[in-house]
Amino acid sequence: MTHLLSTLREVTPDRHNRAVQGLRDHTLTVTLIKQSEAEIRALVRNGEAKEYRVIINDAGALCSCPDAFYHRGPCKHLAAVCISVLQRNDQADNHIHLMWPDGQTCCGEPHPQRYWLNWTLNARNWPDICPTCLHRWTHPLAA
Ligand SMILES: [Zn+2]
Ligand SMILES: [Zn+2]
Repeated sequence: MTHLLSTLREVTPDRHNRAVQGLRDHTLTVTLIKQSEAEIRALVRNGEAKEYRVIINDAGALCSCPDAFYHRGPCKHLAAVCISVLQRNDQADNHIHLMWPDGQTCCGEPHPQRYWLNWTLNARNWPDICPTCLHRWTHPLAA
């Protein structure tokens, strides 16, 4: 799992956003071929036409797309694989809650294991943010 987090950290905010958006609207789909502690192999479909092979292991993170070949840093397919694997591994009570300065979480969780004080707009792009917190924050009138 450490590979996933370190790979994700190298993804530019722009690619991170595109990966999150693609997963959300299903223009990017991730099919896991193999997942072990040592290695993750996945196929990422980009729309209907293209399919790329992604491998993440000790040696690094590789994608078969042209973007990964010509540009530095992980591409959005790699980002999409990291995000979706982390999401699948996420336990419901292991979310990061958004905490107000007074110590209250947005969703009302009294003893959050993980929380984020002084969060930024970036919270919307993180896969393991508590969905209830996110909803209450983005829809304050509905709370
Ligand atoms: Zn790629
Ligand atoms: Zn919460």
